[in-house]
Amino acid sequence: MQKATREQTKAHNKTLVLNTIYKHQDVSRADLARLTNLTRSTISEIVSELIEDGLVTEMGYGQPAGGKPPVLLEVDKEARQIIGLDLANDEFRGALVNLRGEIQERVNAPVSEHGGDIALERVFELLEQLIYLAKKPVIGIGIGAPGLMDSKKGIVHNAVNLDWENLPIGNILKERYHLPVYIANDSQVSALAEYNFGENGNVQNLLVVKIGRGVGSGIVLNQQLYLGDGCGAGEIGHIQIDAAGIQCRCGNYGCLETKISSRAIRQRVKDILLSNPDSPLHAYSDTGSALSMDEILKAYHAGIREIVDLVDEVGKNLGSALAYIVSALNIHRVVIAGSVSSLGEGLLTPTLHRFQACTLPILARNTAITISTLGDDIVILGAAGMVLQYELGIF
Ligand SMILES: [Zn+2]
Repeated sequence: MQKATREQTKAHNKTLVLNTIYKHQDVSRADLARLTNLTRSTISEIVSELIEDGLVTEMGYGQPAGGKPPVLLEVDKEARQIIGLDLANDEFRGALVNLRGEIQERVNAPVSEHGGDIALERVFELLEQLIYLAKKPVIGIGIGAPGLMDSKKGIVHNAVNLDWENLPIGNILKERYHLPVYIANDSQVSALAEYNFGENGNVQNLLVVKIGRGVGSGIVLNQQLYLGDGCGAGEIGHIQIDAAGIQCRCGNYGCLETKISSRAIRQRVKDILLSNPDSPLHAYSDTGSALSMDEILKAYHAGIREIVDLVDEVGKNLGSALAYIVSALNIHRVVIAGSVSSLGEGLLTPTLHRFQACTLPILARNTAITISTLGDDIVILGAAGMVLQYELGIF
């Protein structure tokens, strides 16, 4: 093993101290020495540097334990800004985010029907607007994108909806804007959003399943986003759930995505409307032939039988899939996100029942499954979380 150089040790210690201040808030230099096992003089030196960088501020005095009252430190959340982009939505969405994941400016752009270079131009426009709006130094660009990608090289291998194939978007943006660029799948970054800014406290491991037009998941293991050997970790949408099921856009049959995605749910509702002219569901449709997710939600809350049954079935299929993943990873904290998660308790109850019935009781007992509270911003926040982690070592 190579010995760390002095510079490496120093950089490591600085990151450790910054991360400790970020996690604990209101800490004194003495607390930091205790929490990090570094000497008081090393802490003093690093804290001075962090104050000089503007990343940390002295915020007042704490309770004295005898002697002088200690000076408390905190990370100045407004010291830097991060650009987060969500390219996995019906429209491209971008935002400037502060160091605590608070969104300060938003810019949206329609997704071009043509995809390809025109879609890339839209990304440039979004970024240029956000860079113009930035009031503090921008530390990097984080991107949550759909499809398969090599996050380590910043290459989108295949994003069908955007017509991108082997696009080295990381390098293109780095050269154009001279900023660090990080990219991952939208479901993967959703896990980082929950981990950094969600209601999960200081967990070590976390699984987030994102159910929107597609289905995917993100896995945080030992406080780090786990990408897998080929960057495809969590790609659960195409696990076969029903061998006799309908054909999926991937070519196989009965994939999870054909059972629980918003696309699948809307198609099922469309089939009900077409096959049953007397269904009370027709009252919820503007067009008479299809329902949006919002309209489906209204019909569900009104107790329309066909929708209640459909949501129950979606929940059961989700529960079966979770049984596999949680059994493989033994993660205690699971969060459901994406547009389908707006079905709330109605989705969660059958999910939990099926999950409990399909796993070892002890695994099921210790696993908490909840609905995300981050809403539509989850990908933007996760993309920003990636920059926070890789640029400042905050996780
Ligand atoms: Zn499939």
